[in-house]
Amino acid sequence: MKSLQLTKFGGDLEWREYDTPKPSGKEVLLKVAACGVCHSDLHIWEGFYELGGDERIYVKDRGVDLPLTMGHEVVGVVEAVGPDASGVSVGDKRLVYPWIGCGECKYCRSDRPQMCLKPGSLGVFKDGGYSDFLMVPNAQYLLNIDGLEAEQACSYACAGLTAYSALKKTMPLEEDETLVLIGAGGLGLMAVQVVRELTKAQVIMLDVDDSKLETVRTLTPSVKTVNSKSVDPHKAVMEATGGVGASAIIDFVNNAQTAALAFSMLGKNGIMVMVGLFGGKLAISTPVPALKNLTIRGSYTGSLVELRELVDIIKNKKLRPIPVKTYPLGDAARLLDEVKQGKVTGRAVLTPHA
Ligand SMILES: [Zn+2]
Ligand SMILES: [Zn+2]
Repeated sequence: MKSLQLTKFGGDLEWREYDTPKPSGKEVLLKVAACGVCHSDLHIWEGFYELGGDERIYVKDRGVDLPLTMGHEVVGVVEAVGPDASGVSVGDKRLVYPWIGCGECKYCRSDRPQMCLKPGSLGVFKDGGYSDFLMVPNAQYLLNIDGLEAEQACSYACAGLTAYSALKKTMPLEEDETLVLIGAGGLGLMAVQVVRELTKAQVIMLDVDDSKLETVRTLTPSVKTVNSKSVDPHKAVMEATGGVGASAIIDFVNNAQTAALAFSMLGKNGIMVMVGLFGGKLAISTPVPALKNLTIRGSYTGSLVELRELVDIIKNKKLRPIPVKTYPLGDAARLLDEVKQGKVTGRAVLTPHA
């Protein structure tokens, strides 16, 4: 088994070779068909999250040990199954739910393993998909994606699920309400792809890159786009909402500027969902959330049930796919650099066996 591993925070990714593991108990060994390169891998690689000012949260303090094989957006083909594994057979193509918890705590028992206090997320706390093989602890984390391409489906495990779970937190939204999405990166495009399955509300996407906004309009033509570099986004949203502001805003960037902008555009009873990990601080006038009855909340990935719902929607509705390009596994470091610079439209996907 050849894996591209992080051996030192901020260092180069290194090729390491190991004996291909044999599944025991309920484990399932997958041959990695596709693995998405996610912006959150950058934070693991660099070793910290910016909190604003000079403050940081260190990834190692969150329990991430090295060496680590990153990659949490994986589709694989079942290579071998443990003696107690059930529900899959050798040769099945499956999407991996990577946000695995301890299986015993109140969060895990209520379908919120992504909130587990002893997380075992694949590609974060346990080895992930920047490798030719991946071990999954239990077949219950594998989803049937018949009819979908591996390189399209892999990113539903993180980008798609995160976008979908954040969208659900803003629902229901009526036709005369407005949902603002900030950031047309991988998550934002996934939200645009699926949003019409959840609401008829007016949807406005803000970004600074015209080509990404064009992709938004191609995916879902009813989504309005605003280039917040050339147009004052606050003014544009206020005009589009008849001066009342947005009922819901999802900030997929979530830095100091976008969070302040989002807060300023919220209408009465509005909800602001903070998703992005770009870092920064938000100062707000404390009476405003009370006077306007606001909800400010975060959203982190999503549950196994939500991923099943999302995959069902994608399978049944034949939605337009977001742009995906595939690359050999050895390109991971270069791609992460491009993700950092905002150069990737849609998703970059590694295909170790192509
Ligand atoms: Zn748990
Ligand atoms: Zn991710």
